[in-house]
Parts: sequence; C-alpha cells; structure tokens
Amino acid sequence: MSLELTLEDSMKHLTELQIEELTLRLTERMRFLAAQVREELAASDTQHYRDLAGAVTDTADEALASALVDVDTELIDRHITELRDIEAARGRMQNKTYGICIDCGDAVVYERLVAYPAAKRCVRCQEQREHIYAHQRRSTL
Ligand SMILES: [Zn+2]
Repeated sequence: MSLELTLEDSMKHLTELQIEELTLRLTERMRFLAAQVREELAASDTQHYRDLAGAVTDTADEALASALVDVDTELIDRHITELRDIEAARGRMQNKTYGICIDCGDAVVYERLVAYPAAKRCVRCQEQREHIYAHQRRSTL
C-alpha cells in the first residue's frame, strides 16, 4: 500500500520508454476502436433497414433480426465504454497518475498495462471487483 504517494513519485515504476510505449498503445487502440464503432454504427443502420423490410414479409425473420441488432448494440456499447476508459487513461497520463491503481493506490505492473493500456486497477483489485460482479450476476438470475 502506498496511498500517500506524492505526485512526483506516482509514475516512478515506469521508465520513460515504457510510458512512451503505453502512450502509443493507447492512441493505437483508440483509433482502432473509433474505426470499429463507426463501422458498427454503419452496419447496425443497415441491419435496421433489413429489420424493417423483414417485418413486412416475415415476422419470424424479424424476431431473429432484432436479436442480431441487440448483439450489435451491446458490442458498440462495450467499445464506447473502452473508448471512455482510454480517454480517462490519457487524462491520467497527463496528470501523472497513470499506472496507479484507483482502488488501493499501488503501482499497476507494466506487463498488465501492456496487455490493458487503459487498466485503472491492479490485478488484485480487478480480480476482487470481477468476483463481486460475477457474484451479483449469479444472484440476480
Ligand atoms: Zn489495487
């Protein structure tokens, strides 16, 4: 635990080269996701028109089409959430608080940041959180 970490110390566990690499990864991922979302939005529009056409000719097909639309929307939502996470990570990069777990204040190891450049929690806190969410999901079913 290092909650009384000062601003100057906060990104000390990362070298300048590592920070450069992570900044690059964040930018690349952001561009990739933005392009994905654009494509997905275009595709969902097409699906929407297909939906309308399907409703006229066959109601069973229409049910299938709207199920597909739901999946698409979920994917777009997920990508937009990740885009927001990346935007937040870029903000933390500027504030020099990047790579610091938002829950416990510990350093997030470089290997984790390479895999998930927008990671805002250390492995331990993330696992705890996922455990809680998994439990909540089970109990609502
Ligand atoms: Zn943590």
